Amino acid sequence: MTHAAAVPTSNARPADCLVIAGLVPMSTVDWPDHLTATIFTQGCPWNCFYCHNRDLIDTRTPGAVAWQEVRDLLGRRRGLLDGVVFTGGEALRQDCLADAAREVKDMGFQVGLHTAGMYPRRLRDLVEDGLVDWVGLDVKALPEHYAQVVGRPNAAQKVWDSLEVLLASGTDMEVRTTAVPGDVTADDAVEVARRVHEAGARVYALQQARGRGTSGTFPVAAPGWDAQCERMAADIEAMGWERFTYRPA
Ligand code: SF4
Repeated sequence: MTHAAAVPTSNARPADCLVIAGLVPMSTVDWPDHLTATIFTQGCPWNCFYCHNRDLIDTRTPGAVAWQEVRDLLGRRRGLLDGVVFTGGEALRQDCLADAAREVKDMGFQVGLHTAGMYPRRLRDLVEDGLVDWVGLDVKALPEHYAQVVGRPNAAQKVWDSLEVLLASGTDMEVRTTAVPGDVTADDAVEVARRVHEAGARVYALQQARGRGTSGTFPVAAPGWDAQCERMAADIEAMGWERFTYRPA
């Protein structure tokens, strides 16, 4: 991830207000089968105990990369990159995400988005305006356990509304769940997948939580954890998906 001072310009365009914490100029891991530039936006209203981008949660932290740097990169990478992924933090938190996505589309690139699903109306607007081609949506736990995972009340309905937005629009997407040993995220994962499948999603990923970038206050390994995850993955895969991915830590 590159970090450089965000420099405001006198002839700023709407996308210039996007607060960006970091930019990965070339990535193969943020959008399956796509070569992307990946933009880490600053700020997230949730506080997941296992967040692996904790430095990106604070909404008051100023940007470290100017949008102009993204513009310049994309200008040099035409024909070399498939698209741009906006991740975070929570990219949908910022109003000018739509302006940034529009610029990316206008430059001839596809747009991918990682979201925790907390802004279903903003997601719907982005989808209806044709500004997003693929979404990675986190579904973190069963509704009754959501607050203890994300540290905020009234979260689950927003996530399921976001899933509905994507399913109703036919947007390409991957739903993913991250599991932590000895936690509700692990207890819930198979049932979360079953409900997501029942809702109509057909691409799913189960991910083991990783320790890097986190608070370090929860376990990412335990006796038998790998085997437990492999069993969960097998149970989920057996539900029948167009694509299922298991991502070990
Ligand atoms: S929603 Fe994502 S960025 Fe926000 S706290 Fe949770 S894991 Fe971190």
